[in-house]
Amino acid sequence: MSNLGFENTDTILMEERLFPPSPEVVERANIMAYMKSKGFDNYENFYRWSLEHREEFWNDMARELHWFQPWHTTFQWTEKPFFQWFVGGKFNIVYNCLDRHMQTATRQKVAYYWEADDGSSRTLTYEDLYVLTNRLAKALQNLGVKKGDRVAIYMPVTPELVAAMLATTRLGAIHTVVFGGFAASALEERINDARAKVLITVDTAHRGGKLIEYKKICDEALANTPTIEKVIVFKREGTEVPMQAGRDLFADELLQDIPNDTVVPCEEMDSEDLLYILYTSGSTGKPKGVVHVHGGYAVGVYATTKFVFDIKPDDIYWCTADIGWVTGHSYIVYGPLLNGATGVLFESTPQYPAPDRYWSVVEKYKVTIIYTSPTAIRGLMRFGEEWPAKHDLSSLRILGTVGEPINPEAWMWYRHNIGRDALPVMDTWWQTETGAILISPTVILPLKPGSATRPLPTIDAAVVDKDGNPVETGKGGFLIIRHPWPSMMRTIYGDPARYRTYWETIPDVYFAGDAATIDEIGYFRIQGRVDDVIKVAGHRLGSMEIESSLVSHPAVAEAAAIGKPDPVKGEHIKVFVILKAGNEPSEAMVQELKQHVRTNVGPIATPDEIEFVTALPKTRSGKIMRRVLRARELGQPLGDVTTLEA
Ligand code: ATP
Ligand code: MG
Repeated sequence: MSNLGFENTDTILMEERLFPPSPEVVERANIMAYMKSKGFDNYENFYRWSLEHREEFWNDMARELHWFQPWHTTFQWTEKPFFQWFVGGKFNIVYNCLDRHMQTATRQKVAYYWEADDGSSRTLTYEDLYVLTNRLAKALQNLGVKKGDRVAIYMPVTPELVAAMLATTRLGAIHTVVFGGFAASALEERINDARAKVLITVDTAHRGGKLIEYKKICDEALANTPTIEKVIVFKREGTEVPMQAGRDLFADELLQDIPNDTVVPCEEMDSEDLLYILYTSGSTGKPKGVVHVHGGYAVGVYATTKFVFDIKPDDIYWCTADIGWVTGHSYIVYGPLLNGATGVLFESTPQYPAPDRYWSVVEKYKVTIIYTSPTAIRGLMRFGEEWPAKHDLSSLRILGTVGEPINPEAWMWYRHNIGRDALPVMDTWWQTETGAILISPTVILPLKPGSATRPLPTIDAAVVDKDGNPVETGKGGFLIIRHPWPSMMRTIYGDPARYRTYWETIPDVYFAGDAATIDEIGYFRIQGRVDDVIKVAGHRLGSMEIESSLVSHPAVAEAAAIGKPDPVKGEHIKVFVILKAGNEPSEAMVQELKQHVRTNVGPIATPDEIEFVTALPKTRSGKIMRRVLRARELGQPLGDVTTLEA
């Protein structure tokens, strides 16, 4: 944690715009119904109550799910920081995602509309998904997969990927999904770290029109993964791929003798039994194998899906992420299925075949809730407003973002062009480690562009200095969470010492690694990662604040700011800028952008160097890797770049 020496960051981003919620939306909101059941009609009072009644809140949420046996202790401080939730409970998240719905009308409801890369589609009901999952669970069982085994999954976003996760989980085995865009070395590293026994993949697939040779990449990785015994290959495209006798098996051959009415009962797991291992994006260094468990994770993602996205029975909910990231695990697979929601599964990319792919998908399936990322929004802003304008987006009612701080300008663009100047934007802050959203508006809160607003109920978030003391209003500091929450990671797989650092960097609180501010109305704004804070002449500036000032210039689509050593100022600011279509790099543009920042934010944030680029180094989940820019700039080793987008 290179910058942990700082006490405060400076706030340079002024944001006064406030957008109140619509009274009808507030009246109908899921969160409002729960608040009223507790005697509240005001979020602040309810939130304060929730901090005092944490266990009551989570017990209420947990009781909405099915337990084979109820828990006897809601929260237990065992061996700090190895906390436990819903202790003594017997539970399986998949029972709650599928089996539970077989007894209700949800059985015939659409679970997913699948939008394939080429624009073709397939519809699966909850019953279809239940049948596929059970048959696949049987096939895995026949291969000897049992409780506690690790199953690696390396597939495009397809219904079979969802079924592979659920089938693994049904058996009590632990999945580790590896994003389909990763190279063989990244796959190999994750399989070996998890010591996976089975790998599930496809022959080949296209993503954004580009061929990905899944099986071939697997074969390359498998040369160095001694723990893998069997490889199951789904025929996604029916291409011919080499199969190694005794090891590789086609899924359709395994499934052909397993009848549709096969039921493999869900393994009755302890609440604290492992559900999955997922590696972080690697924005700041080597990815960590984050461990989540059945009980608390299920309760956390269930409740946040219900409250943040305000899911109602007739919603068509679309999270555009890849299932290979935590956003996909929590908010494409588990959260929506726990809520019995109808979702869209999207195999493609935002700009394929044209920059209106997202908007055509919204129109096609009449999507009501869309959850995407700032990087996707900024990427689409480049092409102009005419792309969304071609489509009927009137079905939408809620917008969401996650993954990076959203620049106020991108937030406004989203709300204006996609949300017809009326829809609420849920800027959701969370991490692979947190399992579920922790800081986010719900539809009942007034919104501020670029702010994730308030912590969700029971989440005791604060901004502190390095000793853990709260900083003054408006000053920046470290974002921390004081009390454990149900969906938090339980450890880093195979590396409990690394897990401990999250709770020990600042004594006894969870240290998120992000810098933030809290304003006078209690709203949180994430300033960027602590590692990316720039120190200029005694001021400490978050990367997001400098970048946001540039993105507010009409010619700028994206920007990344880094600090470079400077003999006088400590560091000076260098920015990398991507211009919007129709603008050309020039010396005049350099001067104009410098002047823009100087007048809009102040001299302190004025970049010393501006370089125009057409792309920025990003993780494959779309996050800007400022550490790579910095290392390149200084001619230093790049560090772990397994997650760098090719
Ligand atoms: P690594 O931990 O390996 O460096 P990573 O932090 O990018 O990777 P993730 O868990 O995917 O891995 O991302 C979580 C991070 O994303 C947060 O710590 C934060 O920096 C950023 N983030 C996510 N959502 C938001 C948001 N709404 N506003 C600001 N930042 C966000
Ligand atoms: Mg992180």
